[in-house]
Amino acid sequence: MASEWMLIHGGTVVRGDGSPPEATAVLVHGDRIAAVGEGATADAVPRGEPLKRLDATGRTVMPGLIDAHCHMTYGESLTSEEIDLYTSVESRTLIAAWNMQKVLRAGVTAISQPGGSFYIGVGLREGVRAGIVNGPRMWTAGRYITTSNGLSDPYPEAVGVPESGLGVLANTLAEMREQVRLQVKNGVDFIKLADSPYGQWQAFSDDELKSITDLTHQLRRKITIHARGSDEVRASVRAGVDWIMHGNHMSDDVIDELAASRIPLVPTLLLIANLADFAHVCGVPPRLRDGCRRVMEQSAPVLHKAHEAGVVFVAGTDSGFGVTPYGEWHARELQLLVEYAGLSPLEAITAGTKAAAPMAGLEGEAGELAPGMLADLIVVHGDPVADIGVLTDKRNIETVVLGGRVVEFPAELDAVHHTNESARTYSRRILTYRDVEESRGASEDRGTGDLPWTRQEGRELASELRAQEMGARIVAPG
Ligand SMILES: [Zn+2]
Repeated sequence: MASEWMLIHGGTVVRGDGSPPEATAVLVHGDRIAAVGEGATADAVPRGEPLKRLDATGRTVMPGLIDAHCHMTYGESLTSEEIDLYTSVESRTLIAAWNMQKVLRAGVTAISQPGGSFYIGVGLREGVRAGIVNGPRMWTAGRYITTSNGLSDPYPEAVGVPESGLGVLANTLAEMREQVRLQVKNGVDFIKLADSPYGQWQAFSDDELKSITDLTHQLRRKITIHARGSDEVRASVRAGVDWIMHGNHMSDDVIDELAASRIPLVPTLLLIANLADFAHVCGVPPRLRDGCRRVMEQSAPVLHKAHEAGVVFVAGTDSGFGVTPYGEWHARELQLLVEYAGLSPLEAITAGTKAAAPMAGLEGEAGELAPGMLADLIVVHGDPVADIGVLTDKRNIETVVLGGRVVEFPAELDAVHHTNESARTYSRRILTYRDVEESRGASEDRGTGDLPWTRQEGRELASELRAQEMGARIVAPG
């Protein structure tokens, strides 16, 4: 393996560094790129050493995508409770390991997991490194550190924040610092903080943010934050966090501070966009759909301004929900960055490759086709620079190369969904006497036999019930 060479020739190379596409070749040696363009020929291979050729004629050769916001422990859940409660740690780990290959299949060769339950992310990361799990390279946080005013304490106080949940409650600075120490001891690559759900207030004080950030950096780890509002973004920039998630509402002066800091922004538009745009396809509650449409509308001018001000953009998707399943929508984020932040397709590709490498611990190691980089690349049918949308259809991702190796996938991969356990649903709607009266004669006998729906249909019913329960409020997931 170490001495094996591979020449990917005949294609159009998009390097991922923002430079224009070139008709040229890529030469891979072992797990690294040996040459791109100049020197990428069979002549560069020492006589007698094995050379494999990959014909990319009419194709685009580009770095594998890096998704800076992917939650492997969410198990394609339809509800918060399915993310937090029912599925055992053992099952979640196995489900996540299966889903890792779906992410890789979509051309995503590295991910960053900004929070998830237990230390499953640490296990997955090590599983990939050891060759046990067929998946993208990975960097991971542990459970989100949240205050009672933050995203990850959504349940009534009597319930609290469950041990199996994605968050861990820390309402005092001492508790926050203790969590940082424990999570670092347990192997996380970075810390994830959960500020307020939709930017309605700042859930951590300035002092708390500064103190946790300093401690994290002292322990040689990175730190990021879910921050949708202007105040949180400003406080996070001043505290010196390493990158910021969302930034939906930012005043002009906060945009300028963010741009000057060079701290990257991962808007993570996909989840909100899918909820807004495809509500009718997957049964998103109307109020949630409308709320998400407003968030998208309000974010567009903010993100355009941020892009014009020079803010560094990174692509992340919040994949892992039922509405953002693994391996389906990662590249749509690039499209959304074009549409909602004004990036050019080439800039969007950089946001999803080179610029995202630091969040996956691969700065200077991957995300770019250049000599010395890891040979993590994809061969794409179509021209993503002309139409970024070609990346969204994974049938166009013809070949995935990870560390110089062409990855194989199970044939049935796309069709199989292994998910977290469904919520305990008793019925799809409230049963009144009148409903029964009106339905009499209208439907066939649905007596005491088997359930008249499949498991998938059952999940859809659960979703609809949830829609009604949630009618009065809008959740801001992610
Ligand atoms: Zn998220």
